[in-house]
Amino acid sequence: MQLFDLAGRVAIVTGGNGGIGLGMARGLAEAGATVIIVGRDTEKTEAAAAGLREAGTRVAGIVADVTHEQSCRSLIAATVQAFGGIDILVNNAGINIRKQPEEYTIQEWNTVLVTNLSSAFVCAQAAYPEMARGGGGKIINIGSMMSIFGSSFAAPYAASKGGIVQLSRSLAAAWAKDNIQVNAVLPGWIDTDLTRSAREQVEGLHERVLTRTPAGRWGMPEDLAGIAVFLASRASDFVTGTAIPVDGGYSAQG
Ligand code: NDP
Repeated sequence: MQLFDLAGRVAIVTGGNGGIGLGMARGLAEAGATVIIVGRDTEKTEAAAAGLREAGTRVAGIVADVTHEQSCRSLIAATVQAFGGIDILVNNAGINIRKQPEEYTIQEWNTVLVTNLSSAFVCAQAAYPEMARGGGGKIINIGSMMSIFGSSFAAPYAASKGGIVQLSRSLAAAWAKDNIQVNAVLPGWIDTDLTRSAREQVEGLHERVLTRTPAGRWGMPEDLAGIAVFLASRASDFVTGTAIPVDGGYSAQG
């Protein structure tokens, strides 16, 4: 359908070499976008790019660490140079360090905040002039159920994901005049490397998620493809500053 067509659009997905990022990258690619996936791990990034390329997409992998301001700016510049602009930015790269709040060092706190929140700000800031010059753009920031709920074992993560929602609203308000829509996506519990480690570290988590999620299952990375296409396409041109749960109903009940 034309409303969702992304042909000719250029999309960057940070953390696009696996998990939710790759699920969204696949969706954007299927809708016709050129996709640039970003991660720190060279092998993982090359393998994911090769997989997308096989499906017939114009794709590039960039190895970069988004905790470095200059890396964020360089990856936007490299994309613009190679593909002529940037239309869609998905700020998805993220990590978690699970502990009781009293146990974190300030370095651990900073690492989570810089990876999950500051990188989204810097990448968006670097993309802004290019999007404005191109007549508009779409920024999709990945939050979490912990954008809504607190967590006894993930205070910095929850703080970063709460911040993602407020950052999205603020950028949406500032850049609507440039026809740039900024939204947050709040995934429920999705089966990825990140949550596989959570299941190992947090006793009973697997069962608690199953019981609490009305859909009765964990999400899969491909469950995030549809929302990515919607928020990246013309279909969402009047949707900005929102935080949309994609959670099988997890946040709908107390
Ligand atoms: P994964 O661990 O599978 O993926 C994380 C991705 O981020 C990887 O591609 C990783 O690539 C990349 N990444 C991490 N740190 C950096 C960095 N400093 N620079 C560049 N890339 C980085 O996790 P998920 O797919 O589960 O998570 C993706 C996003 O979704 C995160 O923001 C997470 O918080 C969020 N989320 C996940 C949920 C879930 O249930 N899985 C629920 C709610 C939100 P590499 O290793 O190559 O650096």
